[in-house]
Amino acid sequence: MTCYKLCILISLVVVGYSSPIPPPIDEEDVTMAESFLKKLYPLPEGLSDGTQRSSSMSLRLKEMQTFFGLKVTGKLNEETLNVMKKPRCGVPDVAAYSVFEGDYKWKKNDLTYRIENYTPDMREADVDAAIQKALKVWSDVTPLRFTRIFSGTADIMISFAVGDHGDGYPFDGPNKFLAHAFPPFAGIGGDAHFDDDEDFTKYNKKYNLFLVAAHEFGHSLGLHHSQDPGALMYPSYVERDVDTFALPQDDVNGIQYLYGPNSDETPEETPEETPDETPDETPAKSPPTAPSTPDKCNPNLVLDAVTMLRGEIMFFKGSFFWRRYRNTVEHHLIKAFWPEIPDNIDAAFESPIEDKVYIFKGEKVWALYGYDLVQGYPKDLSSFGLPKKVKKVDAALYDEQTYKILFFTNNKIYSYDEMTRRMEEGYPKQVKDVFPGMTGKVTAAFQFRGFMYLFSGSKMFEFESYDKTLYRVLDNNYFLPC
Ligand SMILES: [Zn+2]
Ligand SMILES: [Zn+2]
Repeated sequence: MTCYKLCILISLVVVGYSSPIPPPIDEEDVTMAESFLKKLYPLPEGLSDGTQRSSSMSLRLKEMQTFFGLKVTGKLNEETLNVMKKPRCGVPDVAAYSVFEGDYKWKKNDLTYRIENYTPDMREADVDAAIQKALKVWSDVTPLRFTRIFSGTADIMISFAVGDHGDGYPFDGPNKFLAHAFPPFAGIGGDAHFDDDEDFTKYNKKYNLFLVAAHEFGHSLGLHHSQDPGALMYPSYVERDVDTFALPQDDVNGIQYLYGPNSDETPEETPEETPDETPDETPAKSPPTAPSTPDKCNPNLVLDAVTMLRGEIMFFKGSFFWRRYRNTVEHHLIKAFWPEIPDNIDAAFESPIEDKVYIFKGEKVWALYGYDLVQGYPKDLSSFGLPKKVKKVDAALYDEQTYKILFFTNNKIYSYDEMTRRMEEGYPKQVKDVFPGMTGKVTAAFQFRGFMYLFSGSKMFEFESYDKTLYRVLDNNYFLPC
């Protein structure tokens, strides 16, 4: 993980300070990349024999770059290497090229599972609970039912193993490949293997056994990897809050395509339900709503926050952010990069002088240095000189020319001077007085190439930074092309 963070950091620094020459890729990385591609991007039958080594690698690399939404170059670069170095599942990514080709599904809804052995990392009862909870993720939304057996052969045999464990897919030691599972068919089909060189836990830290198992059982039931960065079936391990976990919509769609919805869910409401819980919730019993991944092409999309980060533009929405650099756009879960940062943030800005990004939510502010949280954070909003009555900011913008930070809250602007570390005289002011033409509430803001971009609802207002002339009103996905 440290290496992964470091590599990302290096790539960011390179982008930020626009070095024209990319850093050389060392031999070790090339070897790693080749074995990664051979394992996870097998070529279709026939192509593998006659094809030259270099062109077959380039083909696989293009497949991989396409899958992860990277710039498709067919060449090994830092961005591609960073994705390869993330901890992940060992099952191939591309369904059509997968060794498990075809539409696999169980022909029955009642399945058995057996836990063959245990990891020394956790108490046995905690392993049992994690496995049970991981299966429940899938039975909640389908007619599938799981019964545990303690001897004989179950449909889903669950085991912990290290290195070569007899199925032709050896594990690799700590990190990188965490587990794998086989799609539904007789014999080894449905079985899930966990790499016991990992540290598995029941806590909200890596590697949470429930999260890994829930993903693997998706394979056991016939699902392939998803390209949706919010999906449980996304190949990379992402930290998620286990206590509030709800199966993402993409996975619900996938599993219900194979098995249909849960027939036990009776939508009829029970009369005289005592409203002692959450009153505005639809009648009880329905599982928590499946989180779905925001679409940058949705014309009604309202962004939470936008900021620069070492030359890239980061657009935040819900649990996700888009990252735009060199005309490519990547989409990630916030927690995949900064596990400590909350979802649904209010505002963000970058201080290039401090080389930090500040993230705001409610009365708290977090500071990030690259991919690390700065010690001593989160702090209170008042650390930026904002009055106590300000309970949240809607947007924040750093003005590179004046070293001022503009905080938008309701219809007011506060201006904080980074040099003197205090609020400027004469503030707060009305937004419409500082930015003529800006009548709506500002929901996100950033400065880029001499312009200030203020987002209001699904529109983006482009102001000249110096005299605050309104140039254009643009759609808010102007920088996130569809
Ligand atoms: Zn997987
Ligand atoms: Zn195995």
